[in-house]
Amino acid sequence: MNVRTILLYLLGVVLFLAILYSAASLVLLNGFKSVESEEMLDNLRRVEEAIAADLDTLAIIASDWAYWDDAYAFAGGEDDSFIDVNLGAETLTTLNLDFMVFVSPEHDLIHADAADLIAEESIPLDETLAAYLASAGPIFDHSDLEDAIAGTIVLAQPILVASAPIVTSDGEGPSRGTLVVGRFLSEDLLAGLAQQTRIDLELLPPQPPNAEGRELVRLDEQTIAGTVEVAGLGGTPGFALRVSGPRRIFNQARLSQAYLAIALIAIGLFFGVVIVSLLRRVLLSQAALRASEERYARTAEGANDGLWDWDLQANRVYTSERFKEMLGQDVLEPTNADWLELIHPDDRDRFRRDLVHHLRGRSQLFESEQRVRHGDGTYLWMLCRGRALRDDTGRPVRMAGSLTDMTQRGIFDALTGLPNRLLLNDRLEQALAINGRNPKRRDAVLFLDLDRFKIINDSLGHSSGDQLLLELAARLQACVRSNDTLARIGGDEFVIVLHDIDTQDEVLAVVERVGGSLMKPFLISDQEIYTGASIGVLLGIRGYLGIDEILRDADIAMYRAKEDNQPYAIFDRSMFEQAALRQQRESDMRQALETGEFRLVYQPIVDLASGLPVSFEALLRWQRPDGTMISPSDFIPLAEETSLIMPLGRWVLHQACRQIAASGDRAVNINVSTKQLYHGEVVQSVRSALQESGLAPEQLHIEITESALTDDTPRAAEVLAELKALGVRVVLDDFGTGYSSLSYLHEFPIDVLKIDRAFVARMVHDLRSREIVRGIIRLAQGLGLDVIPEGIETEEQRRLLEAMGCRTGQGYHFARPRPLETFELQVAAASVSDQAGNEPI
Ligand code: C2E
Ligand code: MG
Ligand code: MG
Repeated sequence: MNVRTILLYLLGVVLFLAILYSAASLVLLNGFKSVESEEMLDNLRRVEEAIAADLDTLAIIASDWAYWDDAYAFAGGEDDSFIDVNLGAETLTTLNLDFMVFVSPEHDLIHADAADLIAEESIPLDETLAAYLASAGPIFDHSDLEDAIAGTIVLAQPILVASAPIVTSDGEGPSRGTLVVGRFLSEDLLAGLAQQTRIDLELLPPQPPNAEGRELVRLDEQTIAGTVEVAGLGGTPGFALRVSGPRRIFNQARLSQAYLAIALIAIGLFFGVVIVSLLRRVLLSQAALRASEERYARTAEGANDGLWDWDLQANRVYTSERFKEMLGQDVLEPTNADWLELIHPDDRDRFRRDLVHHLRGRSQLFESEQRVRHGDGTYLWMLCRGRALRDDTGRPVRMAGSLTDMTQRGIFDALTGLPNRLLLNDRLEQALAINGRNPKRRDAVLFLDLDRFKIINDSLGHSSGDQLLLELAARLQACVRSNDTLARIGGDEFVIVLHDIDTQDEVLAVVERVGGSLMKPFLISDQEIYTGASIGVLLGIRGYLGIDEILRDADIAMYRAKEDNQPYAIFDRSMFEQAALRQQRESDMRQALETGEFRLVYQPIVDLASGLPVSFEALLRWQRPDGTMISPSDFIPLAEETSLIMPLGRWVLHQACRQIAASGDRAVNINVSTKQLYHGEVVQSVRSALQESGLAPEQLHIEITESALTDDTPRAAEVLAELKALGVRVVLDDFGTGYSSLSYLHEFPIDVLKIDRAFVARMVHDLRSREIVRGIIRLAQGLGLDVIPEGIETEEQRRLLEAMGCRTGQGYHFARPRPLETFELQVAAASVSDQAGNEPI
């Protein structure tokens, strides 16, 4: 709202109030005036009626006296006592008359009784009264003997008169004259009348009008008056009475009008105050705006971000120099529509939505990240932030903010230039929101992990690893569409979000393409490197609550692919359950290690000829509190995946060394997992276990599996050499099951080969197996290694192996794995039976 609008409002209010006042006063005053007139006319009517009533009374009196036999006799001169008898001193007063006159038919005065008034009113008190009366009007014109005449006549003053012919009480004539009674319209009479009608009456100077009528005159503000015109008897000149009274009603109206004016002025003042305070605030906020504009202009010059200022009323966007520079655009003052044009079509809706959201006051700060087209045609990720400035009604009038080039803000991976986890999260969040809104929309997620990247990285060096990742990023990029998201979220972990796909096949096609592109070797530092990847596939993200869950499930599927040695796996619910179970197992195992639920059992490795133990292999057991035993093949792999194998392995080493050392002069075989081996820590653990237990190094035999040699050959050779340097013996376990080439055998400092029990189990009936065993024994002998066949369960197997040149062996045929202390007696027994007949334990 600006000053002009506010002033317009003010003017509007004043005009409105003025019109309201005029209209109201007009209606009010007119209404009151007409009421006033009505009242005054009523008064006039009352005056007329009072006069008429007086005249009626006079007529009755006249008739009463004239139609009386005594009066008849008196008029005929037959009764002189009439006057004395009937017209006493009080009679006129009683009858409220000023005069009573008997006149002969010839209009001569017979008798006049006129009190003193007549003198006072300067009317002649003699015969001329009759002449006066006669000349004043047709008062004697009685056409009918029974008729009384009443009316007014004006002589020196108006007189109310009534006359009647003097006849017998039977109305018989001939008339002996006329009886006239009258009353002067004196001050007293008027005062009485005024009292009777409760109004002021005034006799106007005799300028008698001719017609009867009423007329209203408003004398001044205070008084209203009206005239009653009374015609004279028989067309003689009449007289006029002025009736006047205070203008009570009118004054009431005036008072109301004043109240109305006061009320309207109060309303006007109230609005005035409101409007003026609004005006003040607007002026202040405009001043503040100007101040902030200046501040803004100052910062704009030095800022690294582009700044913008959008005048919503004019729909103009003012941008700083830096802003233009960042976009490489020539647009100087884009409108909002121009700005939207620059935004990547995929990001436009979201941008618009966030903006509207903010303009409607639903967010404190407008913040939106989108791709914006640079002058050179490329799209750059920009973070746009702003805040709307609002007027007092909350309507946004301006919006100002900044534009940050996100390519410089840590949302892209420094090595590959791909979006990093932050940006991925953002995209996934958007995708999730769109999927939520639009049931037709489907986005899929691929989680890709390179196989053996760590080995490559460690063996070829980090710069080669970087090259590999760069090349990989380029190949992956070629497998997806331009609007898909390819992000690197960890060392060798990539996530692809396939936006807006139509079918599952489309997703699998991308998976195939990715797989295919990895088939070709990577040429890194002149070396051809083959690597594969495991891909976890999430076919849709609808229904997910957050990004973490999406990535978790894609990761679970990736993990499954790796486990199953498949190029990819599609996530399903059961995978999650298994993963959850595994997690549960892992935490159980961690706890078991703390609460001491792990035990070691031992299985002797015996001299095949004597059956006497030459060493004991320590085998791990997990005994749950409820007594159930969990086999190592069930939990060792999990322990290896979770690195729990490290503390567990340390515990086994220390515990086995301690127990064996305490049990006498024996040797012990301890299994060490591949992961333990690669983690050079095993050397330190062996050293401290030997030290702590006091066991001689040659009494300790470390068993490793074949896969330990194939995964990372140089590293394995290095660690084994260190172990050898400590003086311990190295045993290659489960020989024949892995993929190790025989050539490895002389590359590693191995002392003993353990032939896997699968061959031993088959050798009695299967000649091929028997030949393999024979071959291994020969090979070992050739290389100067000892051989220990595992899983000897029968005497026949023992004999065959012994015959093939094996001196030691291991298996249920000799003893099952048991706690070490249970062997004590047996050893003693063995040494007794040794003398007796070489019985096995
Ligand atoms: P391994 O090292 O090859 O151990 C020999 C396995 O064969 C043991 O199974 C043993 O009980 C079993 N065995 C011995 N004689 C016979 C026989 O006559 N017939 C049959 N059918 N089996 C026989 P166990 O104890 O279940 O251990 C399984 C595997 O778990 C071990 O194979 C070893 O690779 C691993 N393991 C055991 N303890 C540890 C440990 O402390 N650390 C590590 N890293 N791995 C261990
Ligand atoms: Mg073993
Ligand atoms: Mg074995």
